[in-house]
This record gives sequence, C-alpha cells and structure tokens, in this order.
Amino acid sequence: MVYERTLKEVDNFVFDLDGTVWEWNRLKDGVRKTIETLESNDKNIKYLTNNAILRREQYAEKLRDLGLNATEEDVLSASYIAAQTFDDQDIRSVFVVGEEGLRDELLEKGIEHDEDAEHVLVSVDRNFSYWKMATATDILRKGGTLWTTSVDAFWWAGDRALPGTHALTNAIQLAADLDEGSATVVGKPSEHAMDVIRDEWSLLPNNTIMIGDNIDSDIVLGNRMGYMTGLVMGGSTSKEDLNDVEDFRKPNIVFRSFKRIIMKI
Ligand SMILES: [Mg+2]
Repeated sequence: MVYERTLKEVDNFVFDLDGTVWEWNRLKDGVRKTIETLESNDKNIKYLTNNAILRREQYAEKLRDLGLNATEEDVLSASYIAAQTFDDQDIRSVFVVGEEGLRDELLEKGIEHDEDAEHVLVSVDRNFSYWKMATATDILRKGGTLWTTSVDAFWWAGDRALPGTHALTNAIQLAADLDEGSATVVGKPSEHAMDVIRDEWSLLPNNTIMIGDNIDSDIVLGNRMGYMTGLVMGGSTSKEDLNDVEDFRKPNIVFRSFKRIIMKI
C-alpha cells in the first residue's frame, strides 16, 4: 500500500489498547498528552482491543479512570465483537473459557454460558483450569465449534507479559486433537471484526488510521480495512520483526514511541 496521505489529513485515529495505550492498569508514556493534543486538533479518537476480559462499557470506564475521554461507543473490544458475531449467526449458547466480562457481554445479547453448548469460545481467563479445559475438549470431541477472541500469544499487564488467548486456545485445540488453526478468530484482524467495526463506526477508510503495537492484529486489520496504519514500537514488535515484512503486514508509518505521533500532525 502506498502511503499518500499525511496524518494531518486524517480525522479518525483508532488505537489498540494493550501495549499501545496502556499496560492494563497504567497508561503508557506520553499517551495522555498525545491524545489530548489530537483531541484539541479535532481528531476523532476510537479504541479497538482484542482484550475480552471486560465489557465494552467497562473499557470506556477504565479509560476515563486513567484520565482519557471515552464513551462506550468509542470502544470496540473482542468481547463485544464476539457477542455481536454470535448474535448475527443466531448462536444462543456457548461454553466460555473466559472471564465474567466476556460472559456478561454475551448475555447482553441473549447468549448463555452453557456447559452443554455446541460452541466453545476461548479468551484470556485468569481462572483457567484443567476442568474448564476438559469441558471444552468434551464439546469439541463431539463435533462442537471452536472460536477464539484473538491470535495474540501474550498481553501486557504492567511490566509482565501474561499468557494470551492464543496460548489457551492452542492448549485446548491440542487436547481435542484438532489441527492448528481450527479455531475461528473473532477479534482483529478477522472478517468478523471488520464487519462489526464497519457497522458500529462507519469510518471512511481514507480518513482513518489504525495505530497499534502488533503487526499481525493491528497492522493487518488496518491494511485490510484500507486505513492508514501506524506501528508503535516498544510493545509486542521488535525491530527485527520489521525485516522483510510482507506488504499486507507492512505499516505505513513506524513510531518509535507513542509521543512521536503528535510530531506528525
Ligand atoms: Mg496491543
């Protein structure tokens, strides 16, 4: 993709959360000032996360607690995208390996958490257990369908990289004797995520930039959506990861840190 536009001309800024805006309980360096500057330049700020621990409105609340302006409509999370995707497909019960926020988000759309469901949805679950894994495996061995919120191997909480959704999904996949990649992804950069983003936000592609720290979720999604893409270093991507990167994974801009974003507007 040819980078023809400048950041000045772009009105919509879509930010990833984990490893880009925050490390879960604290904002990353320079984030608040940068976003305030963007807002004072009349930029429209949105947040798009593969995190599915909370409900959509809880992410907005967390952002506000950390000093940023955000409403529920400004945030799309993998929890919300999963709920919307199942609702669109009229899936009414799912066995959830995930946290309360994810189960609640599903319930908002009338989707029940059920051990006898024909669908398994895997996400980060800080109470992951052997027996949850066994129940998921039972469902899958009977021909059930495996869904996952993301392909992220880890996520940042403070200075610690905690096991991500992909790690849990792979463990369940292995126990159920399924091939790698059997799980349908709902978060970035999937078609499901793209559908929900288009429906909820209707952002003009040539007026939007997706900024994140992960090539395979943030940059690939942004490129697929036709957005401009910006990679922030210091999260999950190293300099070496950028060597010989294929076109569909290539960001239009690389920011050495979050603060660098305002130097371009
Ligand atoms: Mg991230």
